[in-house]
Amino acid sequence: MFSPGKLAIIGAGSVGSSLAYAALIRNSARDVVIYDINTAKVDAEVLDLAHGTPFIGSSSVTGGSDLDKISGAQAVVITAGAKQEPGQTRLELASVNAGILRSMLPQLVERAPDAVFVLVTNPCDVLTVIADDLVDLPAGRVFSSGTVLDTARLRWLIADAAGVAASSVHAAIIGEHGDSEFPLFSAATIGQTPLDEWVDADDELVFTRERLEQLTSDVVNAAQRIIAGKGATNYAIGLSGARIVEAIFRNERSIMPVSSVLRGYRGIDGVALSVPSIVGSGGVERVLDVPMDEYEQGLLRTSADALRAAVATVRAGI
Ligand code: NAD
Repeated sequence: MFSPGKLAIIGAGSVGSSLAYAALIRNSARDVVIYDINTAKVDAEVLDLAHGTPFIGSSSVTGGSDLDKISGAQAVVITAGAKQEPGQTRLELASVNAGILRSMLPQLVERAPDAVFVLVTNPCDVLTVIADDLVDLPAGRVFSSGTVLDTARLRWLIADAAGVAASSVHAAIIGEHGDSEFPLFSAATIGQTPLDEWVDADDELVFTRERLEQLTSDVVNAAQRIIAGKGATNYAIGLSGARIVEAIFRNERSIMPVSSVLRGYRGIDGVALSVPSIVGSGGVERVLDVPMDEYEQGLLRTSADALRAAVATVRAGI
């Protein structure tokens, strides 16, 4: 059974419920179904969200602890699992969340065999490889939100510094969704202007080397900063997830830095990390070989090496 526009969200925590809220408000999906093992929590979130539906168009929200409710979903976004504690790296979460994924994913695929599966649970790159080990789905049908959120953070910071709309900033963070991620500054532009040529009203260069280093560090440390202040990041990842779902449901073929298992990408094989990719109704339709300078290529290799080691550790724990 294939139901266009049915979005299943696994996990009704901070991220899952924010994704549901974003998807409802943006009309990303016709039906939103939320599943969580915590019945009281998921029932309460569904009720609270449902009470707002008279204010939004025709989308519906249902859910509970019955996994059969996700049957026929066209997109399944997985947010269930333990979350990053203050001071904890995303990779430290790996074993716990890999265990949850191993027990859950086959059951999800059984109920929604035609869906595109999007992993948000961290460490999302490692879990993407574990998911690829677990189920035999066509290439591109399992991927993670990767650095879509980190890229939004970077574009917002650049837009703020330049005094332009974030939609006019063309820049991406790629690699691991985590400590080894990095910006592709060499190809970044504001409108048509290369980032390193952008000047302010006094004709002064805005994006000096120091400024770019600061922006990078602000993006890489953003999650820890938010977690230290409020315990979780939820709104921007909710919106990131909704945007990915829209790209799938509308077959947009949007270019997004999502994370899929790479096969011979610039020498990287069998590791999932984010690179600009075309996202449409089949999930990741194509991974793009985008321009990178030598420094960035080195960072990509370093990020792939870090993730390869993390995947090996998690696999060894099986
Ligand atoms: P949370 O603790 O608020 O919610 C997690 C939910 O998962 C809980 O409601 C829990 O009951 C549920 N759950 C646990 N095991 C389950 C199972 N087997 N089946 C169904 N539900 C189960 O956590 P959160 O803040 O919503 O974060 C969720 C995940 O998203 C974390 O791993 C976090 O690190 C990750 N995250 C990823 C990004 C990203 O950019 N990829 C951004 C933010 C958060």
